[in-house]
Amino acid sequence: MSHRILIIADHLDGRLNESTARTVACARQITDREIDVLVLADDGAGIAGEAAQIDGVSTVRHADHPANAHPTAAVFAPQIVAAAEQGQYSHVLGPNTTFGKDLMPRVAALLGVPMVTDIMAVHGPHEFDRPIYAGNAVTTVAAPADQVLVASVRCASYPAASTDNQAAVEPITLEVELPGHTRFISLEQQASDRPDLQTASKVVSGGRGVGSEDNFRLIYDFADKIGAAVGASRAAVDAGFVPNDMQVGQTGKIISPDLYMCFGISGAIQHLAGIKDAGTIVAINKDEEAPIFEIADIGLVGDLFEIIPELERAVG
Ligand SMILES: Cc1cc2nc3c(=O)[nH]c(=O)nc-3n(C[C@H](O)[C@H](O)[C@H](O)COP(=O)(O)OP(=O)(O)OC[C@H]3O[C@@H](n4cnc5c(N)ncnc54)[C@H](O)[C@@H]3O)c2cc1C
Repeated sequence: MSHRILIIADHLDGRLNESTARTVACARQITDREIDVLVLADDGAGIAGEAAQIDGVSTVRHADHPANAHPTAAVFAPQIVAAAEQGQYSHVLGPNTTFGKDLMPRVAALLGVPMVTDIMAVHGPHEFDRPIYAGNAVTTVAAPADQVLVASVRCASYPAASTDNQAAVEPITLEVELPGHTRFISLEQQASDRPDLQTASKVVSGGRGVGSEDNFRLIYDFADKIGAAVGASRAAVDAGFVPNDMQVGQTGKIISPDLYMCFGISGAIQHLAGIKDAGTIVAINKDEEAPIFEIADIGLVGDLFEIIPELERAVG
């Protein structure tokens, strides 16, 4: 079987998510042959143009259809299967973002193949490392070489491929009967000008210690001051301080910022699973025994309600 790779573009509101370039970086370790990107959108030419700039990409194909205006796994998956079969790809990859986690298992199921989840290192076209036990151990898995390999890529493990390329962009028609049992109704999301949590270079997170939704304003304001994305522990999410898509950790988002600052977070193992690839970890907690201090590069024992205003004054 050839080693041609199809990558499913992750995009929202007409912009390509950086997770696509991170997935390309992984794909480039799998093969030096063709890497194509598939954009499913209602009008995907602009997004395809962005994807064409990613180094290592040969061709970007965009399948435009009104049903693709909003990403739903049920509608996207059969089209991806058709594209994979049409192009005889050996690998179909997506990012391990919310988008990819929802989509890729459905693609694997429709193709009737197993799936490799969360590739974090490549040993060969069909041999990869992936995390297990909430990231506390790494296992090497070998996938069958005689069938299409469907996988998600752990974006935190790959820097985005650079963007000096000018790949070909082609529209593609996919003859697929789209399912009607699932349809898009609405998307509720917080409008935010802040960087995307999963690709931000700086993240400021708050935990149960922040105390309330109102108090979280402090975290947002400080994050805005230093140009950071905002995350949270599951306890903060469960208490209703912040929405679920801000959760960092085993059952939240896996992130890899250069700087991770966490306020009022104890450092439970499930939270740490989300920040294993973070660069410098700064922890602020009033309990000097908090486990977060065991992994923090810089720890500050104190009350976050006093320390945040001081930090704000310091950064000006
Ligand atoms: C299957 C499973 C999956 C999970 N997945 C996740 C996940 O994805 N992400 C996640 O985060 N958790 C996850 N959890 C939950 C996890 O076990 C912890 O319960 C959670 O991380 C605790 O959040 P916290 O640190 O905000 O709260 P706590 O553990 O209650 O810690 C609050 C901290 O705030 C400090 N504090 C209080 N007031 C102040 C103050 N004024 N100034 C400074 N510090 C203060 C306290 O000293 C304390 O250390 C999961 C649990 C399970 C069982």
